[in-house]
Amino acid sequence: MIENQTAIVTGASRGLGRHVALRLAQERVRVAVAARTFDEVTRVAEEIRAAGGEALPLVIDVASWSSVEQGVATVRQQFGKIDILVNNAGVGWYKPFTEHTIEELDRTIDVNLKGTLYMTKAVLPDMQAAHYGQIVNVASDLGRRVIPGMAAYVASKFGVLGFAGSILREVKGSGVKVTTLTPGIIDTFFGGAVEGTKEETWSLRPEFVAGMIVDMLKLPKHWVVDELAIHAMGQEF
Ligand code: NAP
Repeated sequence: MIENQTAIVTGASRGLGRHVALRLAQERVRVAVAARTFDEVTRVAEEIRAAGGEALPLVIDVASWSSVEQGVATVRQQFGKIDILVNNAGVGWYKPFTEHTIEELDRTIDVNLKGTLYMTKAVLPDMQAAHYGQIVNVASDLGRRVIPGMAAYVASKFGVLGFAGSILREVKGSGVKVTTLTPGIIDTFFGGAVEGTKEETWSLRPEFVAGMIVDMLKLPKHWVVDELAIHAMGQEF
């Protein structure tokens, strides 16, 4: 079971990450609520504390190695150890490739792909030494299929899938699990949307996706869900 364990959830200020942080706290996991916006991570940490959970608001930019190093060191100092990492922070723009700015291209790769690598690098040595740890990567179904209008995002998520599958096989002997989610459309703030506004026949409710992530974290120690694909039936996939 995961009770009394510790977790870092990136991109936890809103959307899917917020729901994962709330659900983990319900399981009595101590949660570092990580994102770039101080007010928002503080608000989510307060929401967790108001419900009786334990939370640490953590300002972190997953695209910056120094920010990641510093943030992970703070969590280690406060919680003593890190059992669970949920690599959830992500950004994306839906428009023709030529209309993407260079800044958008950089951020797509830096946050979605490099951020996943940086966070994993920062926590993995301690997990391997402890012979225990669980890393969950929130990729996308667009890490397995291609569409027009999101070429940079698709490239970043294909990268996450490649990294995740390789690292799982590299560390599985050490007691560390790596699980990667490839969900379809989720009703969040992604891409400038507003959570709670998408039709549920073609979008997933983030609180249920968060529940599935937490259920996976509670599976027997010797089980690993290497990949989990999930879609609303009304979505093209
Ligand atoms: P969201 O509501 O826009 O939330 C994104 C989160 O990422 C926010 O907390 C944001 O906080 C954080 N973030 C962005 N840049 C960051 C950075 N550099 N460092 C740290 N945190 C950063 O989107 P969401 O739908 O919940 O996205 C969660 C994950 O699900 C993403 O990886 C996304 O690619 C994936 N996904 C989403 C969908 C969908 O349809 N929504 C489908 C499949 C997969 P700050 O801006 O405060 O940093």
